Amino acid sequence: MTNSCIFCRIVEGSLPATFVYQDESVVAFEDRNPQAPTHILVVPRLHVATLADATASHEPLLGRILFAAARIARERGLASGYRAVINNGEWGGQTVFHVHLHLMGGRQFHWPPG
Ligand code: AMP
Ligand code: ZN
Repeated sequence: MTNSCIFCRIVEGSLPATFVYQDESVVAFEDRNPQAPTHILVVPRLHVATLADATASHEPLLGRILFAAARIARERGLASGYRAVINNGEWGGQTVFHVHLHLMGGRQFHWPPG
């Protein structure tokens, strides 16, 4: 992707972020506007704009995002539970068009969400 994508820039290191996890296909960093005591974004290194743009070739990558989130949650001691969210498209509330999973914990969440 071009450097117009802020998450691509974070992945390549040209925009700063507080990384909490990195592997060959996924990075995770602190959300700059946290909505919970723990609020981490789990982001594929590969640019995929939305979940709706994912193809069968991305299926292993999507699994890696989820598995990384569970691993980070375990490392953070979020034993009481946590929320893992992917906002998709305009009505889903997505504002950054590079797929990412919000890992939020450290407080009680409610259902339905807003
Ligand atoms: P979404 O609305 O699901 O697309 O979520 C985008 C998230 O990215 C929001 O929670 C923002 O606070 C977060 N965000 C945007 N820019 C940055 C940045 N430069 N570093 C860390 N988090 C960011
Ligand atoms: Zn991107």
